[in-house]
Amino acid sequence: MTLATGTSAARPCCRFCATPLGLPMIDLGQQPLANNNLAPGEEASERRFPLVVSICPECLLVQADHSVPADAIFTADYAYFSSYSTSWVAHAKRYAEAMIARFGLGKMSLVAEVASNDGYLLQHFHAVGIPVLGIEPTQNTAEAAIAKGIATEVDFFGTATAERLVSRGKSADLIAANNVLAHVPDIRDFGTGFTRLLKTEGVATFEFPHLLNMIEKVQFDTIYHEHYSYLSLHAVKGIFEACGLRVFDIEQLPTHGGSLRVFACRAGASHVTTPVVATTLAAEHALGLDDAESAAYRGFSTKAEHARTSFLAFLAKAKAEGKSVAGYGAAAKGNTFLNYCGLGADALTMIADASHAKQGKLAPGTHILIVSPEALIAAKPDYVVILPWNIAAEVTSSMAAIRENGGRFVIAIPETRVLP
Ligand SMILES: [Zn+2]
Repeated sequence: MTLATGTSAARPCCRFCATPLGLPMIDLGQQPLANNNLAPGEEASERRFPLVVSICPECLLVQADHSVPADAIFTADYAYFSSYSTSWVAHAKRYAEAMIARFGLGKMSLVAEVASNDGYLLQHFHAVGIPVLGIEPTQNTAEAAIAKGIATEVDFFGTATAERLVSRGKSADLIAANNVLAHVPDIRDFGTGFTRLLKTEGVATFEFPHLLNMIEKVQFDTIYHEHYSYLSLHAVKGIFEACGLRVFDIEQLPTHGGSLRVFACRAGASHVTTPVVATTLAAEHALGLDDAESAAYRGFSTKAEHARTSFLAFLAKAKAEGKSVAGYGAAAKGNTFLNYCGLGADALTMIADASHAKQGKLAPGTHILIVSPEALIAAKPDYVVILPWNIAAEVTSSMAAIRENGGRFVIAIPETRVLP
């Protein structure tokens, strides 16, 4: 990261436009990597880094203020295979069908995906005979894709990768980039890569959690070190224009608490800009997202503090009444929240998670033991805090036995409430 020089109170500069950043929008304290579960005994070796988010007064990019050393990120466990999530694979299939119909894709087309993982998305194009090309930096997931017949370039995406592919005669009719934009440290180099790889009339689609929802619903727990950016359409539109891309359509998606799917093409392509672009920008303007000094940004930290106060009060009351409180869902957002609350291993009796890989491990920072959903049910807790609030309906249904045993579910964002 570039640091401003020449003053004792140096502030970092914007990772897109290099403007010095203002005061933090929110400071979540020193936090461990939110996906880095520990084996028992590894607690002493855990590292913490500042988790601070600021807004650029010039380009409005809301961004992580500090970078975590690359060696810390890459030692974390990233063997995540998208195909393990059936709902995500179904989402990808609907996307493929819609894109094939809308843009008339066929055997002469090329569909590329950035961060193509194990081919969970491209397989739906491949199955109907449309040529595909995955670009994926993680070796083991890329190998899983290649084994399914999905051609995959094992690399990070950016301008250099795009130019190398173009020099080999590759150019794309459609490029998908789902939930990757927020993870990119150099968003200018990344965006420019799309302009290079697209055909003259090609289309790129980007899915990312919409900053509007994070601000409105106080979803500060979606902040973690691997997320470099928290994106409004105002910021994305401006950044893309600087990269030679034009946003021409938007869809609203329910994923990750409310996401946008942005359609972009080369600046000079003939795709007609739909009215949804203007209405989405207007909704952001109404909330103040186009003004770095608005109450939406400047009041966010106070709302997060309220969520923390409310949860700590709930825990203290439950403890005083001799009630047991457990958690469900050992995902990043719960870890950000619990660590922001300054909690330790005694805060929750356990956290259940369906992932076998997480069971028996300790949640980062708090060191609360992660157990199976069956072990949680057997413990008959009085309260179960559903940490990933976005899957609350799924959890109350699959874990109905909690209620049958007299337990109650709790949601902590934007303030703690016990579900009826
Ligand atoms: Zn900027």
